Amino acid sequence: MVKPEPVSCSITDNIQRVTQSIHQAALLAGRDPQDILLVAVTKTVVAERLRHAHAAGIRTFGENRLQEAQQKQESLQDLVDVSWHFIGQVQRRKIKDVVGQFDLIHSVESLEQARAMDKHADDMGITQDILLQVNVSGESTKGGFSSSDMLNALPEFERMMHVTVRGLMTIPPWSEDCETARPYFRELREMAHTVKQRDFQRTKMDELSMGMSRDYRVAVEEGTTIVRVGTALFGTRNPVEKI
Ligand SMILES: *Cc1c(COP(=O)(O)O)cnc(C)c1O
Repeated sequence: MVKPEPVSCSITDNIQRVTQSIHQAALLAGRDPQDILLVAVTKTVVAERLRHAHAAGIRTFGENRLQEAQQKQESLQDLVDVSWHFIGQVQRRKIKDVVGQFDLIHSVESLEQARAMDKHADDMGITQDILLQVNVSGESTKGGFSSSDMLNALPEFERMMHVTVRGLMTIPPWSEDCETARPYFRELREMAHTVKQRDFQRTKMDELSMGMSRDYRVAVEEGTTIVRVGTALFGTRNPVEKI
């Protein structure tokens, strides 16, 4: 049974606690804790606190708004060994600014969007790593490919030479109870497994981005490789803030 954990005002304490708890959950699940990347979700968190997080060992930051991310990237240029991930919806007119600025885009939600990214990456002479966001629960408020659209789209990704699909991402329906998320996590893992059997050349299915503050331990048990944790590290955000 997973209990909610206290959030202290010390970022360092929080990072230590979350890291330990990922570690424990991994060992209990017979997994190597090294196989799980903690992405610190820093939306609405000021740059100075990212510095503290970096000092306490965080190396990957996840942002969901481009402008906010750009400002922090700018003011934290001096930090070494930092990786930025984009985890939010990418608006059509922002695609060209997102491509090339983030090591991983978690939230690609349509073929059309991916094609536009491929084109911009081609223009820049780079290859962009992406995850396909899958709306496993089918909630109308959530973005992402439906499971069947994702599966049907895969052959198209083989033809895009400047984006590389590394795996899948999902956001389960919000719930007080972290166990609610488990079947969605499991389904995403099984989907990735199914895709792997198809032996695509370019498309990789080695990464699963699932698990947030409330349910990252459940996600670890279900095979996640990337957890996206905000509140458990930085405290509660402004309540109007939506994901
Ligand atoms: C905000 C956000 C998170 C982090 O949520 P917490 O519950 O604060 O850990 C994770 N993933 C996405 C896509 C988000 O927008």
